[in-house]
Amino acid sequence: MVKKSIEILDTTLRDGSQAASISFTLRDKIKTAILLDELGVDYIEGGWPGSNPKDYEFFKEIKNYSLKNAKIAAFGSTRRKGIKPEEDVSLKSILDADTSVAVLFGKTWTLHVKEVLRTTLEDNLQIISDSVQFLRDHGIEVIFDAEHFYQGFKEDKEYALKVVNTAYEAGAKVVALADTNGGTLPHEVLEITRYIAERTKAKLGVHMHNDTGNAVANSLMGVVAGARHVQGTINGIGERTGNADLIQIIPSLLLKMGFKVLRNPDGLKRLKEVSSALYELAGIHPNPYQPYVGDNAFTHKAGVHADAVMKNTRAYEHIDPSIIGNQRKIVISELSGTANLVNYLDRLGLKLEKKEEKLKRALQTIKELEAKGYSFDLAPESALLVVLKELGYYEKLIDMKYWKVINENGLALAVVKVNSRIEAAEGDGPVNAVDNALRRCLVKDFPELESVKLTDYRVVLPGEIKNTESVVRVTIEFTDGKNTWRTEGVSQSVIEASIMALVDGLDYYLQINKKLKPLLTI
Ligand SMILES: [Zn+2]
Repeated sequence: MVKKSIEILDTTLRDGSQAASISFTLRDKIKTAILLDELGVDYIEGGWPGSNPKDYEFFKEIKNYSLKNAKIAAFGSTRRKGIKPEEDVSLKSILDADTSVAVLFGKTWTLHVKEVLRTTLEDNLQIISDSVQFLRDHGIEVIFDAEHFYQGFKEDKEYALKVVNTAYEAGAKVVALADTNGGTLPHEVLEITRYIAERTKAKLGVHMHNDTGNAVANSLMGVVAGARHVQGTINGIGERTGNADLIQIIPSLLLKMGFKVLRNPDGLKRLKEVSSALYELAGIHPNPYQPYVGDNAFTHKAGVHADAVMKNTRAYEHIDPSIIGNQRKIVISELSGTANLVNYLDRLGLKLEKKEEKLKRALQTIKELEAKGYSFDLAPESALLVVLKELGYYEKLIDMKYWKVINENGLALAVVKVNSRIEAAEGDGPVNAVDNALRRCLVKDFPELESVKLTDYRVVLPGEIKNTESVVRVTIEFTDGKNTWRTEGVSQSVIEASIMALVDGLDYYLQINKKLKPLLTI
């Protein structure tokens, strides 16, 4: 049986850029369009040239790139009342954008027609018909977005249907039903979309907003009811609580509902990469709980889960994470069983039996440290150092014998004695000063540390810790340009906790490269 296709229209650059605090530069927009094209979406709505003159630049610039899969679409409204289409600024702005596709939005809700547009219901149909036809006459493919469709339907379903059929008869290739206020629930979407699908020849689409947290479910319900075109944004960014998240919709349609989606057959593997890139371009922290692509989406912390997943991944995973470019993570923590450790070490190339006594001891140490304020799921490499020590694979390479930090009057100075060397250094703040001094001591013996950089530094109060004074937990992220790792320190003093995390971070790198590598090649 030939699989049915669903077209994807991405509106990250238009509806998505209407999100609070997001502002894409022209360069960001071009980058986004290229990523979306590589992913394999059918349409990229590039902007609203009538409302934002900056968007013209995008439409001009993107012509210099040959896209493999996606068509670029310009967004705009139907003509104003009482004028001819050729005199209308909005329609003209679409023509000026010079795209092969237009997404044209028009009124569906009688309340909007009468009170906002202040015209008759008949005239609104004429406006829609004229506007679609005008663009069609200029050789432009038209996707008609029926604004406030679901609210409109609830008040006057015959009129809502008339709007769909008017756009279709005027030549719209797709009529997308929009839940503009985002207040419609999935069972209503199913019912309403089905009602329309049974009474129109138009190819239907859906455009959902997430105001009740149902934009993804609503989009899928629209498809169940017969829609074959879905609009949304990457990571669900958009006004208010956002749009339907294509990152969740695409794999659900493809993997669970059996539709053909994305023009690039390998596009699905790039889902996480595209999601991450868009978070970065939008300046938003990735959501670790995001379905499919979140960092936690395939992370197993509880011992019984990890144990089961190692026996059969389907036990606690709804799909193979590699299909969408994500990966399974087994976290070492106080909730872990030895299975988590075995899995973790296995990935490093160390084969161990779950029942081995040393592993149980390592786990015990980890649990004791977590009780003191460590949280090894945030810094797995610190946990690994604990394990290596217990297993006898560890050799002390950094022996911090003494440290002193002066931090006053804008001066941050650190003196450290490490192994047999004493060094002092200044820095931007005490942690940076210690880092500089520490490296001075180590770099002669371990020049490879020059490539190691700090990329993140966080201090948290780990909350109530039994039988101890209040402590702080410092987590530091490192990179050598290829890999990243995170280590932790816990102490009553921020500086001491920072130094512990710093030493662990450098130590981890040395242990992996100096000690473990030769051992693993045997
Ligand atoms: Zn919208």
